[in-house]
Amino acid sequence: MTTRRPNIVLILTDDHASHAIGAYGSVVNQTPRIDEIAATGRRIDNCFCTNALCTPSRASILTGTYGHVNGVTTLSTPIDASQPTFISLLRNAGYRTGIVGKWHMGEGPGHDPEGFDHWAVLRDQGEYVDPQIRTADGVHIQPGYATDVITDLALDWVDSLDDDAPWCLLIHHKAPHRSWEPDDAHAGMYTDPIPVPETFDDDYTGRSAAAKHAAMRVAEHLNLEDLKVVPPDDLPPDELALWKYQRYMEDYLRCVASVDDNVGRVIDWLTERGERERTLLAYSSDQGFFLGDHGWFDKRFIYEESIRMPLLVSWPDRIEPGEPMTQIVTNVDFAQTFLDAAGVRPHERMQGQSFLPQLTDAPERPTRDAFYYRYYENDDASHHVIAHYGIRTERHKLIYFYGDGMGLPGTSSFRYVPEWELYDLERDPDELTNAYHDPAYRSVRDELTRALADLQADLGDEPHPSQTSP
Ligand code: CA
Repeated sequence: MTTRRPNIVLILTDDHASHAIGAYGSVVNQTPRIDEIAATGRRIDNCFCTNALCTPSRASILTGTYGHVNGVTTLSTPIDASQPTFISLLRNAGYRTGIVGKWHMGEGPGHDPEGFDHWAVLRDQGEYVDPQIRTADGVHIQPGYATDVITDLALDWVDSLDDDAPWCLLIHHKAPHRSWEPDDAHAGMYTDPIPVPETFDDDYTGRSAAAKHAAMRVAEHLNLEDLKVVPPDDLPPDELALWKYQRYMEDYLRCVASVDDNVGRVIDWLTERGERERTLLAYSSDQGFFLGDHGWFDKRFIYEESIRMPLLVSWPDRIEPGEPMTQIVTNVDFAQTFLDAAGVRPHERMQGQSFLPQLTDAPERPTRDAFYYRYYENDDASHHVIAHYGIRTERHKLIYFYGDGMGLPGTSSFRYVPEWELYDLERDPDELTNAYHDPAYRSVRDELTRALADLQADLGDEPHPSQTSP
């Protein structure tokens, strides 16, 4: 074991669901290089985001706080980049810090990356081919495919460092976010029929009106422009839906294949530099994604496929390969975990907890028995998801769709009659039956309602005014 503090590398992708990763048992693709992180470290099985949207999840990861604290609640609420982050604390402690790739938390003074020795970021969502790259010096076009370009620029920065200080590098890919544009090297993959999820034909019976109200069905809402090909003539609706699913997944998984290759490049580069052992390497995504589950693409909902983040962590000097970690962690915990690895005290406003002990010397130690989630955009223009918050425990989930944008950007004036949902994830892992009104769940419901209120109070958030006690 070395005494030098570890390097920290976070490879963060965009919308990469864990059920499209081999190490998590994917039935739709292979990711051998991403899987190496799990094989040489640990797979974390219950990592969740606290708001399943790009911008808010990124702000929570950086600041170690919830959206109501860091102010980034929607896609169009830019970050106040001067607030404390694990990056600024690492830098104060002597780390070299860099970010390359997707930032997506605003642009311009006050919103550009702060606390980084080096930043080179995409503009907004960024482009898959010849992306525009912003640095402190301005904007230029970097020729190439975004996933390769981001990896190149990231490794170049570390290679340029001229002392032995530890470094922290964020490699933030655009892929596999829509518009799912694969490169030529992976264009021919996944042409065999891709398995269709069991819930693909979900009609949302037995749940609140929110699921039916959402506009993210592969069959009806996936733009043919995003698929870049025209369907055969006269396909009946059922066959057209499956045709769109196949096209969507082909492109999505091809983008993932390029990510996988580039994860491999990072691993090989660390190995060649002799730094693999003393580097904490984490792979994650800002949130999950519906891969045809419930008939959907996109995210936003508190439902499982959307909130579940892949998280694989290796650090050969400290983390022994072992069984998957099953305790609940969230994106709010990342900051304190990285700081813990570096031996740096967290900022007092941070709201998570380090799970480094569970990955090293205390594998059985509990983390938390529940976490809080809130999606703020109400009836957003793209997908019409109703604003909601909720609590997820190891077994249950309670959701309150309050349906009020409260004047936030990205929300409509649409008013929804509030509704509750409750799921028993043990008996109903696909969340098909709302048990909120089931008398058999009355005590569970009451207990979860109290726990939700307690969590909101602990975290300093407010219940929506429409919420009354049962
Ligand atoms: Ca995302």
